[in-house]
Amino acid sequence: MHAAMTRAWLIGAGPGDVELMTLKATRALAQADVVLVDDLVNPDVLQFASANAQVVYVGKRGGHPSTPQADIVAQMLGHLRAGRSVARLKGGDPFVFGRGGEELQALQAAGIEVDVINGITAGIAAPATLGIAVTHRDYAQGVVFVTGHGAGGGEPDWAALAATRMTLVIYMGMRRLGEIVGALLAAGMSADTPCAAIESATRPEQRHVLAPLREFAEAVVRAGLGSPAIVVIGGVASFALARDAAKRDGRVDHEQAASAIKTLSVGIGCRLHSDAADIEAAVRAALGSNAFEQIHTIATIDAKANEAGLLEFCSRHQLPLQLFSREQIAAAPVASPSAAARAHLGVDGVCEPCALLAAAASVCATIAQNARLVVHKTTHAGITVAIAAASDSAPGDVAPFHPAPQDQDLR
Ligand code: SAH
Repeated sequence: MHAAMTRAWLIGAGPGDVELMTLKATRALAQADVVLVDDLVNPDVLQFASANAQVVYVGKRGGHPSTPQADIVAQMLGHLRAGRSVARLKGGDPFVFGRGGEELQALQAAGIEVDVINGITAGIAAPATLGIAVTHRDYAQGVVFVTGHGAGGGEPDWAALAATRMTLVIYMGMRRLGEIVGALLAAGMSADTPCAAIESATRPEQRHVLAPLREFAEAVVRAGLGSPAIVVIGGVASFALARDAAKRDGRVDHEQAASAIKTLSVGIGCRLHSDAADIEAAVRAALGSNAFEQIHTIATIDAKANEAGLLEFCSRHQLPLQLFSREQIAAAPVASPSAAARAHLGVDGVCEPCALLAAAASVCATIAQNARLVVHKTTHAGITVAIAAASDSAPGDVAPFHPAPQDQDLR
């Protein structure tokens, strides 16, 4: 092997927002012949990869099994030994709960030199979107990053952690949140301790729940928050509580919205022969806290007019399928995903424009005035979904076209 010719990078892609990737990460990505991508990585970051790069998804979301760790390392070694440079892309920072340490060890043991490129970890980025400074000195002398499921090293000692009085930032904590909260309360942590759970942080579909410790686990379940989410427990979470209280007057009440009339148009981009069940799963995953019952139209490109899975999904829910031409889609005012990301994903970037077009059509007026994206493009099992809402408000008070994540609090 010619070490000088081949290179290996362990790259942090950041928490989701493409702009939170480092310059160094984007430059390394551009040089890689092969890119191995984890499930938490926003596929849009592949716009920085070479158009000729071979992209391999090794994550486990979307109903597919994850690639075993040893296989990932073996794949990397195979490519490197064949003279191909390899970028291993991980969500957040590669060395924070990302198994980056293990991969580095394995590669080094095989005599490979690896460049590690940091990313912004979700444990800092997610709280920051709500104005939570994890080490604000009025509340904490430090912060503890801890995993909520003790795989490997066993259960974290929650009583000992409570005793530190430091901010707790919990990764992978959603599944066992009830038990964690119980253990902290049992250890004497105040039931009034402010808590925050932030799902899909820095992505358009971000949602969060804020509650004192005693109500926290139940509030998270009620809101239907799931993985990936960061949990923050400690006085610093009160910054988010204060901010939400200030916003409350202007906020849309979600329960009210859910019981309201059908306002949502769902744009779908799918491969040929996508399964109705996969489409349904993708739509439900994209909805977040919006109710399925709020959907009034499914929309896609006219080339999919005979797509069996899509037709089956629509008829099952008695939803009309609205079709748009390539020209209409191209004319819709939406920032399309990059060509590179689209090519790698093998799906058309049609979901956002279709959702907008269908929402606008539903109230017979122009897009610019009364359709807005509620959920930007999300990807699930190779199916892209975006959701738009029609609003018949006066042009003056239309929501911004690309609302900031914090304005999407649908709690
Ligand atoms: N290396 C990653 C963490 C990987 S462990 C990092 O540094 O961020 C996976 C966990 O990270 C998830 O279960 C969730 O707790 C958290 N996570 C990753 N991305 C997230 C995001 N965008 N929003 C909220 N939590 C996220």
